[in-house]
Amino acid sequence: MKAILDTPITYLKGVGPKKAEVLQKEIGVKRFEDLLYYFPFRYVDKSRIFSVKEVNNDSTYFQLKGKITNLTAVGDKRTRYITAKFTDQTGSIDLVWFRGLKWVKENIKPATEYLIFGKPSIYKNSFNFAHPEIEVFSDKENPVEGQSLEGIYSSTEKLKNFGLGSRGISKIMKQLMLQIGDGISENLPSYLISSFGLMSEKSALQNIHFPKKTSLIEKAQTRLKFDELFYLQMQIILNKKITKRKSSGFIFETVGKYFNEFYKNHLPFELTDAQKRVIKEIRFDLKSGKQMNRLLQGDVGSGKTIVALMIILIAIDNGFQACIMAPTEILANQHYNSISNLLKGLNLEVALLTGSSKKKERDIIHSGIQSGSLKILIGTHALVEDTVKFKNLGLAIIDEQHRFGVAQRAKLWKKNLIPPHVLVMTATPIPRTLAMTVYGNLDVSIIDELPPGRKAVKTIHFFESKRLRVLGFIKEQIKLGRQIYIVYPLIRESEKLDLKNLMDGFANIQQDFPPPEYLVSVLHGKMKTDEKDYEMKRFVEGKTNILVSTTVIEVGVDIPNASVMIIENAERFGLSQLHQLRGRVGRGADQSYCILMSGPKLSNEGRKRLEVMVSTNDGFMIAEEDLKLRGPGDLQGTRQSGLLDFKIASITKDSELMFKTRKLAEAILEKDPQLTDEQNIIIRQQIQKKFNKNANWGIIS
Ligand code: ADP
Ligand code: MG
Repeated sequence: MKAILDTPITYLKGVGPKKAEVLQKEIGVKRFEDLLYYFPFRYVDKSRIFSVKEVNNDSTYFQLKGKITNLTAVGDKRTRYITAKFTDQTGSIDLVWFRGLKWVKENIKPATEYLIFGKPSIYKNSFNFAHPEIEVFSDKENPVEGQSLEGIYSSTEKLKNFGLGSRGISKIMKQLMLQIGDGISENLPSYLISSFGLMSEKSALQNIHFPKKTSLIEKAQTRLKFDELFYLQMQIILNKKITKRKSSGFIFETVGKYFNEFYKNHLPFELTDAQKRVIKEIRFDLKSGKQMNRLLQGDVGSGKTIVALMIILIAIDNGFQACIMAPTEILANQHYNSISNLLKGLNLEVALLTGSSKKKERDIIHSGIQSGSLKILIGTHALVEDTVKFKNLGLAIIDEQHRFGVAQRAKLWKKNLIPPHVLVMTATPIPRTLAMTVYGNLDVSIIDELPPGRKAVKTIHFFESKRLRVLGFIKEQIKLGRQIYIVYPLIRESEKLDLKNLMDGFANIQQDFPPPEYLVSVLHGKMKTDEKDYEMKRFVEGKTNILVSTTVIEVGVDIPNASVMIIENAERFGLSQLHQLRGRVGRGADQSYCILMSGPKLSNEGRKRLEVMVSTNDGFMIAEEDLKLRGPGDLQGTRQSGLLDFKIASITKDSELMFKTRKLAEAILEKDPQLTDEQNIIIRQQIQKKFNKNANWGIIS
């Protein structure tokens, strides 16, 4: 039974070695099974033949019947393309080819009637079809009205050159179904199929490719999404269990001198309940004898830093070293400063190691770390360089995690025999579905409460035309003693031009806010570290009123007196970035403001983003919206983990099904951890099959 699906794709009738090769290269189809699970992304009614007159929009597919005449080669050798006229009773429309010209010239005959199929494009104010799919029309093949929904498969230029456009794929799919025959076996136990009212696997596969009725498409999709998500969740849960079982960790038994001393005499404020709870969760991990792999989520400003510090103190109390790795120098600096501050009077040394540390400092740090005299090291990815050798690293805290690759993180403790405990902190919340998959093997702690006394930041969107009003507002705020951030986005491809954009803005601001009444700092990525430090310091110390900057201030910067954030060209920022930026204000007791400036013309998505920002301060909600608008593509680690390479499910649209299958998987494993129940054998077999394929995805340590 199984064997037939494992058959190499060359054994499919109509697929020779050449087609097999492109299928594998372009869409990873090697065996029958791979093709079987290559699904259409939409459906059209093939029985419907449109007329040329009806072609009226470039977002749907049309099937036309008519003749192709006036083949004309245009351009010289390198830019050559072919145009033609396609004509039916109602009119004609242009066709165009840029590749495969030889085939077109040799095969298209003016007297033949063709069916063409494709999505039109708009060129010079009229519609044409580029590279339509073409077949000779014959009445016999034309199916009965209303009975033939045709799946549309995504294809590539190369596939099309081999006759494997959507229709070509559909053809080999039909052949595949014939050759497979009864070879599709069920992959879910029957009790699940009946209790969730699912279609059988076999019927789902038939209907996903060749649906008999529209109503069956959705049922087929649901069934296949169910499989996909259920087995994904199964694997994630099992993988987490395996990682846990395997990775023993240091035991931090005591809460000792440093922690207690800090807690009694140096804690600058009462911890929030959420902070206390999270510290408790982490302490539990540290005692467990297993390596901690925990994700600490909390909105911007929720107070993750102090949690990090207190955990570090526990590590030191137990005789270990600890480190914090941050994605940028500015942020590493910031951590270094705030942690040094908090530690004043505790007689504990902290060192900062970044790409711009001088050789001499570096040497001192290296030897301190190696001998163990230095307990706390904060830095950028400079921490993972081979020259950094910890004596006994017991805890690694990784801030703003999405910027580091998995491999990079692992480098930190590869040299340890027992891996250190790992706490990953995120800059902004992660949507639940993503946390559940991409970070599925991490335990999660959430700080869901802001420190008391915070006033919600007021967010307002202004079009460029209101700039004078905004300038007036800034002046008022400065009079009140507040400080202002003005942030410019990276707009253009070139860093040079971006810098020019920023410097133009800076020049304007200096004109609007002239010295000596106003003082302005400027900060951007191209500056030398000491220049940056100097400018930053002046602003931190309140010597300048305004800080003009690129997004280098995005993460972590904490200046309570700065209460106004102006974001220029706000429509060009992503949601999570906007939220991060807004999080720079609202840290003191004063009412804070975030002003989003935009040009007059907004794309739909740009407008939506600004609306979301104005309507909520809730980072979790913003993260969900962001995922909906953008998809998960940008999240680093997502792609390399392969966890979101869904064949049919969507992390944004199928979140409910994902939660459902998660719960189901948990419940099944709770009752039958080894999956040895008669009724679960089928699940076990499926997992064994899938596990072998990608055994160690996503394992962080
Ligand atoms: P984030 O979670 O964004 O990293 P930080 O750790 O930078 O947040 O904390 C934001 C600000 O809130 C800092 O100024 C910090 O000192 C302050 N803070 C943190 N926890 C508390 C608390 N429990 N009570 C009062 N202020 C707090
Ligand atoms: Mg922070």
